[in-house]
Amino acid sequence: MTRPLSATIDIGAMRHNFSVVRQCVPNAKAWAVVKADAYGHGLANAVKAFSDADGLALIEIDKAIALRENGYNKPILLLEGFFKAEELPDLAAHDISFAVANDHQMAALENANLKTPVNVHLKMNSGMNRLGYQPHEYKKAYARLKAIPWVKSVAFMTHFANSETPNHPKVPVTEQLRRFNGATEGLTGIRNLSNSAAILLHPDIKTDWVRPGIMLYGGTPGGKSAEAFGLKPAMSFDSEIIQIQHIKKGESVGYGSLFTASENMTIGVVACGYADGYPRVAPEGTPIAVNGIKTRLVGRVSMDMLTVDLTGIPGAHIGSKVNLWGNDIPIEEVANAAGTVGYELMCAVNSRPTHLVKE
Ligand SMILES: *Cc1c(COP(=O)(O)O)cnc(C)c1O
Repeated sequence: MTRPLSATIDIGAMRHNFSVVRQCVPNAKAWAVVKADAYGHGLANAVKAFSDADGLALIEIDKAIALRENGYNKPILLLEGFFKAEELPDLAAHDISFAVANDHQMAALENANLKTPVNVHLKMNSGMNRLGYQPHEYKKAYARLKAIPWVKSVAFMTHFANSETPNHPKVPVTEQLRRFNGATEGLTGIRNLSNSAAILLHPDIKTDWVRPGIMLYGGTPGGKSAEAFGLKPAMSFDSEIIQIQHIKKGESVGYGSLFTASENMTIGVVACGYADGYPRVAPEGTPIAVNGIKTRLVGRVSMDMLTVDLTGIPGAHIGSKVNLWGNDIPIEEVANAAGTVGYELMCAVNSRPTHLVKE
């Protein structure tokens, strides 16, 4: 018997979520962001589900080349650009667009002597202070790119630090946009801006391309529920009860005897642990569903198992269905309880659970 833990990817839900992008920003082209194996959903599933997207954006160069080799013929964008100068000829040969974010990448591109021209997205650091040129350096970087014979086009790209937080006190979207608009004024090129939160909360931002990620997978930035935005969960993480323990008041459960029963109770042991991608830091009370009924995690999550409160679920037995997140429990609820974001939970599900696909 296989261990009863599975991650089921719903292609129809992903397709639906992409249609929500179109509804929000009907005039923008959209990169479907498929980095990190499509946020844990499988790159091949994503290619199928996002066939309506105008292109795919990711980080991993080997995966980008594999997409081309498998016949993907729409634009592909490397969000962090290249890492080593030696990668450039391969990117050019495969018609893969990439970000240029600093002088190190710039110099490599200037010296690359490419035979096939490339499309470049010039990254601006408009307040995130991660990748990109400062606004005051931007025009000069643009001119350098324009002077390179093997650069075919230059697009303008920046990333928002706080698009999920209205009127952020430190770096609001409006301030990043002000810097971006100022630095690109008078330059010609397409604009490549919004992530999911900007698409959902600031659909009026003027941009030629958008870069949705989390919303395509039915997650939301900022801990809100996906349902409120008309998004459907694309991953259901499911298991079963593999043992039941009736414990007495005062007895405890699991490593560290972290949880102690305040009355006689029934505990269910679930085949899922941190070695599968469930967060070990999830505390007592983290929501979990048994037979479709919401209950709570108790005790410490261990490597291969976790324990739940079955008091109040009298029908539960060995083999009862457990939903960690997805079908019964929104992933944000688990993420909020564990002090993280749905992004991290999705990406953490590894190859140990069985992976299933719902077309
Ligand atoms: C990951 C990423 C995105 C997608 O962000 P979401 O919040 O998942 O929509 C967009 N742009 C860049 C540069 C990214 O790295």
